[in-house]
Amino acid sequence: MSNTDFTLAVEDLTVSFDGFKAIDALNLYIDRDELRVIIGPNGAGKTTLLDLICGKTRATGGSIKFKNEELTRMAEYQRVRLGIGRKFQTPSIYENLSVFQNLEVSYPEGRSVFGALAFKCTDAVRDRVQAVATDIGLGDRLDTEAGLLSHGQKQWLEIGMLLMQEPELLMLDEPIAGMSARERELTAELLQRICKNRSVIVIEHDMEFVARIAHKVTVMHQGKILAEGPMDKVQADPKVIDVYLGH
Ligand code: ADP
Ligand code: MG
Repeated sequence: MSNTDFTLAVEDLTVSFDGFKAIDALNLYIDRDELRVIIGPNGAGKTTLLDLICGKTRATGGSIKFKNEELTRMAEYQRVRLGIGRKFQTPSIYENLSVFQNLEVSYPEGRSVFGALAFKCTDAVRDRVQAVATDIGLGDRLDTEAGLLSHGQKQWLEIGMLLMQEPELLMLDEPIAGMSARERELTAELLQRICKNRSVIVIEHDMEFVARIAHKVTVMHQGKILAEGPMDKVQADPKVIDVYLGH
């Protein structure tokens, strides 16, 4: 496989904050339809890596290629348009709009120069909202005000808002934080469904959850990759055990 076949190819990526390298000459390759989980102790650089990929933070050096297109000098909105979706730790849903409306305003054409108000709700949009709502387990909650949803349902709604844009790469930072056991289970199923036709990167601490969803696991430490591979191999790696016991 050549580097041009990957959905995402990160090479020699570096970012320094006042001389401190939060990401240090990092290489990472994500396949099509792969669900990759990134783990690592606090401060390893996991969130910073996602910030660099989505364009929230600018790289100091190195390359980030998405479907073989260089991203590093591209603005955040351009990366969204190319098909990169990023979910942050705190959900940014519209609490006073319904589930339906939250999904509707996330439909790409809804954000034209005329804004969401001038946007007509066509059958195509309605169908897409229904399909996404079903996918995220909110198919029968379309009229519910988002503010009234449970914590877990709000997280799923935000994932749904990203899915409305049909991203080819979806990145989620600690998606199950604060969720109940049942919500975690449903989230695992949701992630397994949505990686069937897109690549997904998940940052997560809960090892049981990681083992359940990961195709491959990448362990980060001090801005670098410490280990990478199937969950069982990575967990048995003395370098990995060392880093976790040391914290
Ligand atoms: P993780 O998500 O793995 O816990 P982060 O990516 O949040 O780690 O942080 C990695 C390191 O980079 C930390 O030491 C953090 O303090 C530092 N860092 C992150 N963002 C900035 C920033 N904007 N300015 C300065 N230091 C930062
Ligand atoms: Mg983090």
